[in-house]
Amino acid sequence: MDADKIMDICVRRGFLWRSCEIYGGVGGFYDLGPLGVALERGIKDLWRELFVVQEGGYEIDTPTIMPEVVFVASGHVAKFHDPLTDCASCKKSFRADHIIEEAMGRNVEGLPTEELDALIADEGIVCPECGGALAPIRYFNLMFRTSIGSTSTGGATAYARPETAQGMFVAFNRIMRTMRPRLPFSIIQIGKAYRNEISPRQGLLRVREFTQMEAEVFLDGRNIGTHPRFDTVRDETLRLFPREEQLKQDGVIVEMPAGEAVDKGIIDNPYLGYYLTLSKFYLLAIGIPWEAIRFRQQLPDEKAHYSRDTWDVEIETSYGWVEIAGHAYRTDYDLTSHTRVSGKDLTVFLPYDEPKVEIVRKAVPDKGALGKQFKSAAKEALEFIKERNADLVKVKDDGKSLEAKIGDEMVDMVPFIEVREVEEKVAGEHIVPHVVEPSYGVGRILWCVLEHALKEEDDRTYLALAPHLAPISCGVFPLVNRDGLPELAKAIEKALRDAGIDVIYDAGGSIGRRYARCDEIGVPFGVTVDAQTLDDGTVTLRERDSKKQERVPVDDLPLVLGVLLAGEGDVEAGCGPCAGCE
Ligand code: ATP
Repeated sequence: MDADKIMDICVRRGFLWRSCEIYGGVGGFYDLGPLGVALERGIKDLWRELFVVQEGGYEIDTPTIMPEVVFVASGHVAKFHDPLTDCASCKKSFRADHIIEEAMGRNVEGLPTEELDALIADEGIVCPECGGALAPIRYFNLMFRTSIGSTSTGGATAYARPETAQGMFVAFNRIMRTMRPRLPFSIIQIGKAYRNEISPRQGLLRVREFTQMEAEVFLDGRNIGTHPRFDTVRDETLRLFPREEQLKQDGVIVEMPAGEAVDKGIIDNPYLGYYLTLSKFYLLAIGIPWEAIRFRQQLPDEKAHYSRDTWDVEIETSYGWVEIAGHAYRTDYDLTSHTRVSGKDLTVFLPYDEPKVEIVRKAVPDKGALGKQFKSAAKEALEFIKERNADLVKVKDDGKSLEAKIGDEMVDMVPFIEVREVEEKVAGEHIVPHVVEPSYGVGRILWCVLEHALKEEDDRTYLALAPHLAPISCGVFPLVNRDGLPELAKAIEKALRDAGIDVIYDAGGSIGRRYARCDEIGVPFGVTVDAQTLDDGTVTLRERDSKKQERVPVDDLPLVLGVLLAGEGDVEAGCGPCAGCE
């Protein structure tokens, strides 16, 4: 499909347009119009239905601006950058790996800057805008930086989050305490993310503000080989583009059941297999054709260093294959990093079936010495020894010190303990959960849905959006603007709105033009009120894709449309699905 054509419909009919248009627009920012908002809501609702309602995930909503420390812990301050090169003549900046990919047709994401510089030199790659020479590559951090509060020193450094994920890791403890979940479980977030992309392009596909739908699935890493519901999806076929196929000259997409791909080790574990299968269900439900979907395994250079395996979900579009979601097995990287930086315990306690008796090495306080040294603050010192027992054993073993603030003093606590082996009943163990992360981008999905819905046949253009996803469900048209038909049509409009059905009332121009206008924005059904309505109380109900028409009693309309919008029955059956009829 032609991307320009879709963008034209989007802008002209109110799906989306460049933000701040009256000031010339801002690269990488888009407004969603009324139709875009409605379509986006449908895309999010279906995803939420799957991940929150069906899977039982815990949905949260956290701020988009977070203090620097969060992104120091996550590694974004140090590593969330893309390779940038500037043109010496026109001074424009480009993402180096993208212009190399465009020039050579090869994915070079993740290669070190020296290798990218060498490719530019060897292949004679120049500025794609003016043909000028390209400067040596440097890294550009993609986070938008800001500050919180106003102090004489300018406030505390903070960043707009580049992914919703960190909000979920940071809130992990609170979810454990409030919801008392058992592993495996997931925390879900749908919200805005910000990336100061070097060269935003391809409409909604690479923008600077976008909505993500992410699930952080927490699990006991020792059980990564067994997902509780994998058996329910193991026979589902996936269209895989594994690493080995990508490295071949004529690599192909391999269709294979999820179970076989996991058993053969092509997909690292059943968790990834399970969530790729959910992704298949989701994309089919929002109208993406099967042959336009593939699951591409990231190459070692592309993968985050902590990820053991990552699969992108890609959809074929007029721009080529576009990544709409990533599925990464992130091991225990996230919670371990936040534990290290925050000093907070982010472990999960797993009770044994039966308590075990174990010999453990403990830091035992020398109470006499504590009393002498700390007097009334001795209780504080005892608390510290209890809380940091394992750390104290370690520092004592290593011959190091561990200071605590007791009262107003900083004191090394090691001289006040003795390490002893003691028998202890152990009720369970603490583990740092591992994470598998399905991460989806809403804007890219919205674009792909539109591309695959756009149909052109004979002299008409229509969006074949799934009825449950269409921004507006039904058009209501008086055939002529007299004889009481507009009044009747208005009453039908109201009855449908009262029944919770989104309606567009259109009385302008010929009925053919009105159908065409609705077809172009994907309205799946149209109701025409004509002279016969006055006689027998029926209207014409028209279905967008087939153009089939049937007469339906006005009183049955809300019920019939409700059934049709749920994807059941068809227009030719008229009021067949209606419970009131035979
Ligand atoms: P890319 O390689 O295309 O830059 P990514 O691998 O960095 O994407 P992730 O960090 O895995 O993307 O983010 C998860 C999802 O968020 C992506 O699959 C995509 O749908 C969406 N996304 C990421 N960056 C952007 C962007 N700049 N514009 C629109 N959507 C984005």
